[in-house]
Amino acid sequence: MTDLDSIFVDDVPPDHRSGVVAVVGRPNVGKSTLINRLIGQKIAIVSPRPQTTRRQQLGIFTSDTAQVLFVDTPGLHAPQNKLGEFMVRNAEAAFRDADLILVLMDLSEPPGMADRLLAETISRLRGDTPVMLALNKRDLLSDSEAQYSIREYAALLPHDEEHIISAQHGDGVVEMLAAIVARMPPGPRYYPVDQVSEVNMRFIAAETVREKVMLHTEDEIPYSVAVEIDSYRERSADLTYISAVIYVERDSQKGIIIGRNGEMIKRIGSEARSELGTMLGTRVYLDLNVKVAKNWRSDETLLRRLGYRIREDK
Ligand code: GDP
Ligand code: MG
Repeated sequence: MTDLDSIFVDDVPPDHRSGVVAVVGRPNVGKSTLINRLIGQKIAIVSPRPQTTRRQQLGIFTSDTAQVLFVDTPGLHAPQNKLGEFMVRNAEAAFRDADLILVLMDLSEPPGMADRLLAETISRLRGDTPVMLALNKRDLLSDSEAQYSIREYAALLPHDEEHIISAQHGDGVVEMLAAIVARMPPGPRYYPVDQVSEVNMRFIAAETVREKVMLHTEDEIPYSVAVEIDSYRERSADLTYISAVIYVERDSQKGIIIGRNGEMIKRIGSEARSELGTMLGTRVYLDLNVKVAKNWRSDETLLRRLGYRIREDK
């Protein structure tokens, strides 16, 4: 049993719901404002290379009867480059694993090329995941302007539901949250109410290690690396002990990550340690192990332990 399993909280009502909402939207449409309003506490995540992040936690909404994990979908609005193909696969996976795609758009500006491209990409990649439109910044428009703008945005992509909101002032947000919860499947409370930040920190630690692996191994290691934090301890006020397992799919990949005389794993470890130390403001002891787990991506138990939620209906 891993630490993550042991902190699942079981005393929730039998009709408890939980799920993942993939949040999508161009910069400046109000994603952070909305998430902070929904969550009611600021959860800041800093990632220097967000485009390598498979899934980034934006925040967790927890009530007595539901838990909703809001994640962002990096890469959709990144410029086309050699990572493009990976990004698309990444977004596709993020959409497939989500219970709902929440698309934020800014009503106060007319839809532009970027909105059309985004809408097209979402429609192409969404699979059968429901789409909810959140048309934001309603407060900036008159009634007649709003009517016009809502029609234009609603026509951009097929969707299951739309909400007109003001993330800044709160209009429509409670109603939208209720609608989001109603679309979540039955499920447990994955994260304890009071350990949100620690769970976040574990996630950040895992992503930091994974990012260093990607950074230094470039094309030799496909995006089939997963990192599991199997221990995260604040040993003292100025020392954090983190132990992580890097999973790869083949022995040859394990060799590359360890490197000649362990050079590569040392480099990965020392860079991740220094970055985490800066974030945490403590010294960090980082213990890294590399394991081969053939086909980890189709191993549901392992995926769960790694923090990827599996849809109930698969
Ligand atoms: P993000 O880039 O999508 O995360 O967008 P932010 O949440 O950072 O918001 C971008 C800007 O839009 C900020 O200046 C917000 O204050 C503003 N903003 C967000 N939501 C609203 C809204 O509902 N009404 C108005 N008037 N401004 C908003
Ligand atoms: Mg933001």
